[in-house]
Amino acid sequence: MFQKILIANRGEIALRVLRACKELGIQTVAVHSTADADAMHVRLADESVCIGPPASRESYLNIHQILAACEITGADAVHPGYGFLSENAKFAEILAAHNVTFIGPSAEHIRIMGDKIEAKRTAKRLGIPVVPGSEGAVTDEREAKRIAAEIGYPVLIKASAGGGGRGMKVARSEAGLAEALATARTEAGAAFGDDAVYIEKYLEKPRHIEVQVVGDGAHNAIHLGERDCSLQRRHQKVWEEANSPALNVEQRTRIGETVANAMAELGYSGAGTIEFLYENGEFYFIEMNTRLQVEHPVTEAITGIDLVHEQIRVASGAGLSVRQQDVRFHGHAIECRINAEDPRTFVPSPGTITHFHTPGGLGVRVDSGVYSGYRIPPYYDSLIGKLIVHGRNRVECMMRLRRALDEFVVDGINSTLPLFRELVGNVDVANGDYDIHWLENHLAASE
Ligand code: ADP
Repeated sequence: MFQKILIANRGEIALRVLRACKELGIQTVAVHSTADADAMHVRLADESVCIGPPASRESYLNIHQILAACEITGADAVHPGYGFLSENAKFAEILAAHNVTFIGPSAEHIRIMGDKIEAKRTAKRLGIPVVPGSEGAVTDEREAKRIAAEIGYPVLIKASAGGGGRGMKVARSEAGLAEALATARTEAGAAFGDDAVYIEKYLEKPRHIEVQVVGDGAHNAIHLGERDCSLQRRHQKVWEEANSPALNVEQRTRIGETVANAMAELGYSGAGTIEFLYENGEFYFIEMNTRLQVEHPVTEAITGIDLVHEQIRVASGAGLSVRQQDVRFHGHAIECRINAEDPRTFVPSPGTITHFHTPGGLGVRVDSGVYSGYRIPPYYDSLIGKLIVHGRNRVECMMRLRRALDEFVVDGINSTLPLFRELVGNVDVANGDYDIHWLENHLAASE
């Protein structure tokens, strides 16, 4: 097992990883920018190192500074959290070259899944259902027309290097295809420095359902069920649940086993998430995230398995703590991402939190690094914390969530709490009756 882990992240996820390390008796090193000197993860870590000025590229994305912090403190492993360097294959390679373990999959697997065309090709080869579309990159208009006619309109042009929902264009008929192709390529080139695009069938009303997996790197992998993250705004997840209200036990088992078998075959190591769009009873792979996700606590709530413990175990060579036949799903869990944003316009609202009070009681978990008097710096994402509520079934979970949201106090800045208080009382949400467009339509209708 590792002696000392450096946590190359900030905010609630740095705290989350730190908690797992403490439970495992591993020493912790926090790194921070000058803007985060008084952050909770820095206060609670055994040691801390300032790695640069506020701008992420000079601190949390600065590989040399992080490597230097490893050397100064003698850390033998790095947990990257999510975002920042968590899906950076080069970072994983550089650490390995300095005998520091990257807590995550191999650089090769990060690279494959970071290229969407390659990821889709790999998923298909491993027996994971994919969205019908082109086999690889498409540059030629004639070829694009032939493929689109074959799969049927509407189609979606997507950037191979894409991320954050950028570089995507819908073509509803052949008339709009040439323009969609040209704009998608130009946008992709400008945003990612790579203008490779591909075509796939555009699904009109899908849900976003993702499967959590953990592999040991020696061809054993388990799945921990799925999460439904269909309530999104601008492709950003807002509310996540486990399990999905749309699946039954057979569907859950089938897709989970398909994914676990695929990851076992690949020899995948660590935690990963296979994201699907789900429509009319069919799953369509869209991408794989080769890291821990923001919404992982809902999976932890229904399985009782600590995903960060598993990540650390696997990276240290200790293997998984559970076998598939020992995984059980208990009840239902929902996570709300509470952001420092205006609840209607979503304009970021940095500043000082004058009063912060979190809910408690049975089945209530709050993952947050903020406290009364904390000043939210304007340089990073606007997540204040995550409220995760668990109940024996979805109805109990919703009742508990409503109660927990009532107790939650964030004063001094705007937060998205009012949005969640509204959603928890909505009939469609109560019925689990929503797709990936529901939230934006709902917000537009109530403007
Ligand atoms: P990114 O990496 O940019 O987030 P994804 O492939 O994960 O790209 O897709 C982001 C979002 O775009 C999905 O959650 C979904 O809302 C939408 N999307 C992607 N592919 C399709 C598709 N084939 N049909 C309909 N919507 C899609």
